[in-house]
Amino acid sequence: MVAAFGLGAGWAALDRAIPYSAERIQAGGPLSEKQGYTHKLIVPHVARLEASRAYIEETAERIDSTGDNLNTEGAIAKYMASEAGNTAADASIQALGGYVKEYMVEKIKRDVRITTIYEGTSEIMEMTICRDRWQLHLKTRGQHYHNEARRLEELHMSHSQAGANIAALGLHALAELLERARLRRLTRNQHVMFRLGELIAYAECAGSLANRAIRVAEGKLNPKTDARFNPEALTTISRIFAREAALKVAQDGMRWIVGADEINDAELAEFEKKLKLSAIHRTQAGLIADMDFVADVVYGRVGGK
Ligand SMILES: Cc1cc2nc3c(=O)[nH]c(=O)nc-3n(C[C@H](O)[C@H](O)[C@H](O)COP(=O)(O)OP(=O)(O)OC[C@H]3O[C@@H](n4cnc5c(N)ncnc54)[C@H](O)[C@@H]3O)c2cc1C
Repeated sequence: MVAAFGLGAGWAALDRAIPYSAERIQAGGPLSEKQGYTHKLIVPHVARLEASRAYIEETAERIDSTGDNLNTEGAIAKYMASEAGNTAADASIQALGGYVKEYMVEKIKRDVRITTIYEGTSEIMEMTICRDRWQLHLKTRGQHYHNEARRLEELHMSHSQAGANIAALGLHALAELLERARLRRLTRNQHVMFRLGELIAYAECAGSLANRAIRVAEGKLNPKTDARFNPEALTTISRIFAREAALKVAQDGMRWIVGADEINDAELAEFEKKLKLSAIHRTQAGLIADMDFVADVVYGRVGGK
């Protein structure tokens, strides 16, 4: 429920910033035509909110069909959607050029801020997520996220545009990070454990959004679901978020693994290879073109909504 509050509030804020920027003329043209505006204040938030939506709906459907509690999935949904909603509202204040009461966005921001706090703060969510997935990593002898990645790689064979291959790279990297943390006992640092919780949430949401993009393309989504974006737009959004998630897992992961441990140059180079850092960097190719397309969809310059 709180995840849905975060998602709804984030979109409510963007839905005010978007029409404003289509009308507001600065430096000879509308703000909506300026990449420096749309690619910072609008498009990344669209991607994070849609990743959160994918995870919320996947979790809700699983709860409905299995009756399971899915506590960890609930924590991931709540964490990602409340953080995405909060940052989208913050960006929307920036996008509207200030705290102007009539735009409502400052009220939305005040209302959405609490979603990262009540019903379990974001920090407690990070702890819950990492603690529970850590057990899964141990139980499967380090294979849990490699298996998830292989499933996405399989999907990529038949749906090459949905970013499933990029999400898979993030999940493989995550499995390597968790294994390194196990071998070197790095989760004795609470900060490392909590940061891993964040990376787990990003990597799982990337997988979920790729699944959703594929299901939309196959016409297999629940008819009650939001239909804001058509299949082409959603696959593009999925690639944008998968790139962010894979890079975040690899880069932040390296940061904390190296920051919490002693690691020599040879080991470091070896670990960079295990994380497939250069492959993850290569997946960033096409990012700006994809962001251009999503901006065009959001502002109705091409079909897609
Ligand atoms: C508007 C509003 C409505 C609310 N409604 C309800 C309600 O209906 N029912 C209800 O029961 N409660 C409600 N709450 C309470 C809410 O759930 C708590 O404020 C929230 O869980 C934070 O707990 P705390 O205030 O004890 O903060 P503290 O426990 O003092 O935490 C302060 C900060 O430290 C962090 N922190 C705490 N423990 C750790 C740890 N082990 N490791 C790392 N960081 C940690 C937290 O993440 C938090 O950011 C509401 C709060 C607000 C503001």
